[in-house]
Amino acid sequence: MKERINQLNEQLRDASAEEVLECVIKQFNGKICFASSMGAEDQVLTAMIAAINPATHIFTLDTGRLFNTTLSLIGNTRERFNVRIDVLFPEAAAVEKMVNEKGVNLFYESVENRKLCCNIRKVVQVRRALVGMDAWISGLRREQSVTRAHMNIVEWDEEFGLVKINPLISWTEEQVWEYIRKNNIPYNPLHDNGFRSIGCQPCTRAVKPGDDLRSGRWWWEDADKKECGLHEFRKSEDSHPA
Ligand code: SF4
Repeated sequence: MKERINQLNEQLRDASAEEVLECVIKQFNGKICFASSMGAEDQVLTAMIAAINPATHIFTLDTGRLFNTTLSLIGNTRERFNVRIDVLFPEAAAVEKMVNEKGVNLFYESVENRKLCCNIRKVVQVRRALVGMDAWISGLRREQSVTRAHMNIVEWDEEFGLVKINPLISWTEEQVWEYIRKNNIPYNPLHDNGFRSIGCQPCTRAVKPGDDLRSGRWWWEDADKKECGLHEFRKSEDSHPA
């Protein structure tokens, strides 16, 4: 697999995001899916995927703590691009147990609690969605955070045991917004109010112009620990299985 990943990275080095998507959707033929957070980058990818192959499996997570604007955007996006977006919910019994034992807003108490919440509300559902898949597509960009600065277009995802494709990895935030405006793509209106990266409501806040892009997410934690478990960066570049 390591060899295939290296080959794909070499082949796609100068490819546009659309070309990357066209290539991987064809190569992983039905065994590839797109996990959308309904963020700006993911709206760009949904538009591209809908134009290339609208039957590509797209899913998103309803963690139970999302903004209403995010929920509305799921419906608007389905309608606009005429695509199916599966919505995955956390297991009710697991959420009940966590909240009753540790509190409704347990995530503010410790990194451990926050990771538990992200695991129950997000990671378990992603793991479920990825069963039987060989690859998944994400909207990660290098400049989003220190944990993403060394990522490639094609990566081995050690956490979930499959290939991860990052078509927008070298895009800037300006490029994302230029594409959205030019193509009149629906987006979360919170972005117009200083929310540059949007996740669950209690763990997201607006940031000031010039602030770090991810500084509005889990702002009470250290910058180098701020991943939810879906996109943990493994430092070893050689972590692809042989
Ligand atoms: Fe829980 Fe916050 Fe993670 Fe959402 S982002 S799953 S509310 S800890």
